[in-house]
Amino acid sequence: MSLTVLEPATEQVLAELLRADASDAEEAVALARSAYPAWRAVAPADRARLLHRLADALAERQEDLAVLEARNVGKPIADARGEMGMVVDTFRYYAAAPERALGDTIPVAGGVAMTFREPLGVVALITPWNFPLTIASWKLAPALAAGKPVVLKPAELTPLTALQFERIALEAGIPEGVVNVVVGPGSSAGARLVEHPDVAKVAFTGSTEVGRSIAAGAAQTIKRVTLELGGKSANLVFADADLEKAAAAAPYAVFDNAGQDCCARSRIFVERSAYDGFLELLVGATRGVRVGDPADEATEMGPLISAAHRETVSSFVDGEPLFRGEAPDGPGFWFPCTLVEATNEDRIAREEVFGPVAAVIPFEDEQEAVRLANETPYGLSGSIWTRDGARALRVARAVEAGVLSVNSNSSVRVATPFGGFKQSGFGRELGMQALEGYSETKNVFVSTD
Ligand code: NDP
Repeated sequence: MSLTVLEPATEQVLAELLRADASDAEEAVALARSAYPAWRAVAPADRARLLHRLADALAERQEDLAVLEARNVGKPIADARGEMGMVVDTFRYYAAAPERALGDTIPVAGGVAMTFREPLGVVALITPWNFPLTIASWKLAPALAAGKPVVLKPAELTPLTALQFERIALEAGIPEGVVNVVVGPGSSAGARLVEHPDVAKVAFTGSTEVGRSIAAGAAQTIKRVTLELGGKSANLVFADADLEKAAAAAPYAVFDNAGQDCCARSRIFVERSAYDGFLELLVGATRGVRVGDPADEATEMGPLISAAHRETVSSFVDGEPLFRGEAPDGPGFWFPCTLVEATNEDRIAREEVFGPVAAVIPFEDEQEAVRLANETPYGLSGSIWTRDGARALRVARAVEAGVLSVNSNSSVRVATPFGGFKQSGFGRELGMQALEGYSETKNVFVSTD
């Protein structure tokens, strides 16, 4: 069975690969399992050194990886460079972890109790196509730091940087069998990893629908699961905000990565008294988004990932939108930046579009802003724009989402925890919190009697 990988900006073939099936997934689990005892036994300082070497090797290949990722996803090269920088930083950050896996000592009668963070065994990483190597690195680095071997199943649409990573890890000295990449369909190779009794944990990023089936499948063997799923995040703009700054930033919070971002602030709520003025600024800023060839250094938005996905995104826009930008003609899965005036009940405001389409919705006061922001099954991300510091904190505490920013739309950093409330998932990636998802607490009591 072969797999054809396309370049979304040209629709040309980028690679032809062998397609793995369920038996290949099983083989990868067996390899990982046999590598586990030795990997676990590597002394913490040596594991740290290996992770630093891996970060160095990735840094050396950063430009090649960025070009490959840009071509495979259709993302602007400047974005891809930034993302590969984050991949390197993620490995450097977690390289410090093996020597800091501290436990507690707990005073109890008759002796002493102490806790250890123990690795669990093989972990399966199932990742999406929107930030392929970046999201994979958020799982790979803490898993390897915690002493677990991994089987990574990237999305079939974008497997190329994951395959490069497998080679780079070996060259950097990560022992054979510790990093295994399986390129095959989610429905067979992915599903086999989820049900496999030798897989101790599944770390997944993708749609809420598939996340639900993974949680159900993992329940059969009581696997640990972390899920980073969809979002429908709110960008709350109060009338007392720096409206020019908020409007200039808002398009990039939806149209970056062509809207294919689980953190996309795709519901822009604006206080009624500032609504008309803000719309004018927002349309002007959206008109300025540079859409085109991902290889061009100046490009800010590329095409969508596939023809099928463009069909889905198109289905969200009927009638004449408030604003429709321009996109290249000809080959490529292009879709223009689109702004739609909506209510919070409209489909565009309820479902994740995962494309460059934003809903703009007015609100009357703070109470209504919070209610509308929370009227969604999702709870991943969001922004609050106001000059009133007390209100910023009040609203940040009231919005049911895992990752928020005030007077900024930036919420993903290597050192800070990332993850969702409600149906956006559970568990945290990045920061020191991610390590908790890759180890188990063991309590040992030693009698002194
Ligand atoms: P999916 O959730 O289908 O895919 C994510 C990953 O899961 C891929 O590697 C996929 O494999 C794999 N997978 C699919 N089915 C199974 C299964 N039954 N068992 C195990 N693994 C499985 O996302 P899509 O690519 O189809 O995108 C659909 C929608 O999901 C988007 O429009 C968007 O709304 C949302 N999404 C959210 C993301 C996020 O960052 N939270 C990322 C991507 C999508 P493969 O594709 O190779 O078959």
